Amino acid sequence: MTKIAVYPGSFDPITYGHLDIIKRGLQIFDGLTIAVLNNPSKKTLFSTADRVKMLKAVVASMPRVEVTSFDGLLVDFVIAQKAKVIIRGLRAVSDFEYELQMALMNRKLAKTVDTIFLMPAEPYTYLSSSLVKEIVARGGRAAKFVPPLVEQELRRKFSLTKK
Ligand code: ADP
Repeated sequence: MTKIAVYPGSFDPITYGHLDIIKRGLQIFDGLTIAVLNNPSKKTLFSTADRVKMLKAVVASMPRVEVTSFDGLLVDFVIAQKAKVIIRGLRAVSDFEYELQMALMNRKLAKTVDTIFLMPAEPYTYLSSSLVKEIVARGGRAAKFVPPLVEQELRRKFSLTKK
């Protein structure tokens, strides 16, 4: 039986921290479905289509990884994927409270679905999509934090590249 896990998130945009979690997930599971949350009420810098496109480009060389978007309840999506596991990343204690609440609520909604937490390599523990956006918006370089194509898209968003 193939074991598939779902890695959900905003990925606005994908960072090397996310990528670290994806690689760790692939060591445990046969396949990973990266699920980009399409939530019109949550303000994101990139559209859902753009976030999916960037993710697909970044994981293009990784077999066993699929990228898709979803709306509605995460547990319904997980069950539809015939998966039983949700992967989330834990960077610091500050992530814990929110993640615990989500994991327990998701278990209440679907008792067959479990959440597992993976810790990234230390240099990524202070990395977040929001910080990267701030850095690039203020003219800083993000090459250490995001893949080159993502940095390029960020610079384009903030009109920092020559047209
Ligand atoms: P969400 O809005 O669902 O939190 P994010 O894209 O911010 O979406 O995060 C998706 C998942 O990836 C979350 O579990 C988050 O904790 C994890 N994550 C985000 N950045 C990192 C990082 N630098 N290292 C490890 N995990 C991370």
